[in-house]
This record gives sequence, C-alpha cells and structure tokens, in this order.
Amino acid sequence: MPVPDKITAWQMTAPGDMARVDLPVPELAPGEVLVEVAGCGVCHTDIGYFYQGVPTVTKPPLILGHEISGRVVAGDETWLGREVIIPAVMPCNRCPICAAGRGNRCLAQKMPGNSLGNYGGFASHIPVPAADLCPVDNRNLPLEYLAVVADAISTPYQAAVRAGLQPGDLVVVIGGTGGVGTYMTQIAAALGARAVVAADINKEKLARIKEFGATHTINTAGLSAKEVREAFKDYCKEAGLPSNDGWKIFEVTGTKPGQEIALELLPFIGRLIVIGYGMQKVEFMLSRLMALDAEIIGTWGCLPRYYPAVLQLVLDGKVKVEPFVEIRPMSQIREVFEQAHAGHLPRRVVLTPDF
Ligand SMILES: [Zn+2]
Ligand SMILES: [Zn+2]
Repeated sequence: MPVPDKITAWQMTAPGDMARVDLPVPELAPGEVLVEVAGCGVCHTDIGYFYQGVPTVTKPPLILGHEISGRVVAGDETWLGREVIIPAVMPCNRCPICAAGRGNRCLAQKMPGNSLGNYGGFASHIPVPAADLCPVDNRNLPLEYLAVVADAISTPYQAAVRAGLQPGDLVVVIGGTGGVGTYMTQIAAALGARAVVAADINKEKLARIKEFGATHTINTAGLSAKEVREAFKDYCKEAGLPSNDGWKIFEVTGTKPGQEIALELLPFIGRLIVIGYGMQKVEFMLSRLMALDAEIIGTWGCLPRYYPAVLQLVLDGKVKVEPFVEIRPMSQIREVFEQAHAGHLPRRVVLTPDF
C-alpha cells in the first residue's frame, strides 16, 4: 500500500488565488483514514468560495473540493485498500439534530474543502473520518466518475426523500437539465414517478433530457411564470393528468424566475422542494399554502446513510453519470474554475490528480 510522505494539493491561498503546495501527512486520529483521491468534482459551491466571497468555515489557506472518490491507503485496518466515496457533508452523529435523523443539516458537520480542517479534494490525498464513508465494493465505471455521487447526485436524492417521492408521483423539475437538475430528473424517474416534467431554458439540453427520464419538457426561456403555467396546463390536458393537484415541484435553479415559476405551479396538496440557492427575495401570498393545503420544504445535502442507495442507482444504470461528466487532469484546475465561473462548462468536470 503506497503511503505517501506528503500531500500535494492545489490550495486556495486567498479567494481568487491558488497555489500548488506540499503539506505533511497528518497523524491520523483513531477512526480516521487517508484517502488517495481518484477524482474530485468541481461544484458551483467551490466557485462561490473562490470568486464570489462566500466565506469558508476554515479560513484560507485551504484546499477546496467536496465531491470526492478515492481509495483508502492508511489508517483504520478494516478500510485499508477499499475504494470509497467521501460524503460531502459528514454529520457529528452526536447532537440533537443528528438524533432527530436530520444529520444532513447538523451544525457541527464536517465538509471537505470547507470545514474539514484545511483539507479538501483538489489534492493527492485527504484525511477523513471513516465512520460515514460509502464503500464502493464493485463498480462498472471508473472510480473518478463516482465522485459526483458525493454531491450532484446525493443532494437530489435527499430532496426526493424529503419530498416523500413515491412510485406514480407527478413531478416537475425547474432547472431540470442543469448540473444538479439533470440528476433530480433522473432520480425522480428512477424512483418511479409517473410524469417528470423538466423545465429549463436550453433547447438542446431539453431535447437531451428526454432520453434520461423526462416525460415532457417546457422551454421557459422568455416566458413569464403565468405563461409557463399555461404551457404546463396544456401539457396536462393532452397527457390526461391533473394540472391543479398533487404535483411535487423541485426548484433547482435558485434563481428568481425559477422560484417564481415553482410558486406559480404549486397546486392543491402539492409540495415545493427548494434545492437551489439564491440571495434574492420573491413575493408570494403565504396564505395560499393554507388555501392549497400545500407545503414548501427546504433541503440541504444528503445523509451519509443514503449514499449506498444512491450509488446503487448509478451502478444499476438507472441514473446515468458518464454523459454528464467530463474528466480533466487536476493541473487544469485554474482554467476549469475560470470556465465554470463564466458558465462555459457543458458538463460537470471531475479533476483527477496528476501531480
Ligand atoms: Zn457541491
Ligand atoms: Zn450533529
């Protein structure tokens, strides 16, 4: 087992600045392991930390990256040599929030590239607690692809759990072709939703998502929320579906137009699940919730105990990863960040260490 004498990494020295550094391998505490990184996905959260002044819990210098797969090379013997996915959010498992089964929002949680000391995934190795690791005991695609399970796929899975998604459900995904929305659409279909309407603004991506679980698409580009509602009603009429009750609506964009559409579509006994994040405010007559007997639910991250089920959906081919991922060497991190920041990446990029 090759145990390194140092960790090589791309470290954020200050927001907007990055340097290649060598760090000593820390002494592993009981229950900790050292993971050799196979791949680390580039998430919009990283871009927020790097360019937009979103503060990290551990102040820079720190290594970003929280979508990580890899192999255990040191530490706890029971894990040695095993391939793993590192959950993006690791709960403390000791506080009242964790005891309530809501550890994905544990306030003492550890997140690589944010609050796990100064360690993150854009590195050769990372020390992590072993307790919540998701083992990859067999696989049918390269380990680096499975990095995206750790956030882009697990977050929509948790959203589906929060929504109580059942076979036969009616689902709308606002932003259903984006980096996370693509997986929200696929997961809704994989869990047996009867109808999955993907709404988004890119014509090519909308055409494509029909091959990956969307039963219908709505191009919302240039439409008001009310116009989207009309298009939605037309579709429901054609498809013989109710337009005014029961739909579960997942808002993934975090944008004002996306949220306005989601609120406009919220029907009787419906549920709106908020996954996207944006700083803007939207106006809504709150008493409509009472009149509709409807719910609005927030969701954050994913409990580590769901990771094996999420991984299984990928291994079973029910959630496709390869068409939506691009593998690039980690030495290209600066240009990949630039491209992600400019919105120029058609696929989620996973960086593989090439130090
Ligand atoms: Zn993320
Ligand atoms: Zn906790």
